[in-house]
Amino acid sequence: MAKAGNKQPKRPKHVPLRTCIACHETKPKRELLRVVRTPDGHVMLDPTGKKSGRGAYLCARLSCWENALKKKRLEQEFEVTLSEEDRAGLDAFIATLPRDEPVQPPEKVQKVQSGRKKTTS
Ligand SMILES: [Zn+2]
Repeated sequence: MAKAGNKQPKRPKHVPLRTCIACHETKPKRELLRVVRTPDGHVMLDPTGKKSGRGAYLCARLSCWENALKKKRLEQEFEVTLSEEDRAGLDAFIATLPRDEPVQPPEKVQKVQSGRKKTTS
């Protein structure tokens, strides 16, 4: 006999939320990057999200990572001091992040200056 009462309503999948330790925005876990403190005290990025250890989450946003490092948020979160090696590993990763604030190309400023003059008198 086929399954009776197959009436389960389609529910949207539960989205696990996490909070960025830098900007404190709550976002779906998959949009955040996980940093893990491994059981032997190293702090590293965990791209798979499956490493064992204590985790912290950050937006994939340069400003959040810069803030987290500047304010030692990771160290506070993990109660460790980042070793130079771990810090270098994170720095290398951070360097690959896109800047979230669009940088005005200097050309544009020049164009405005050399553009047609507006008579304001
Ligand atoms: Zn953030």
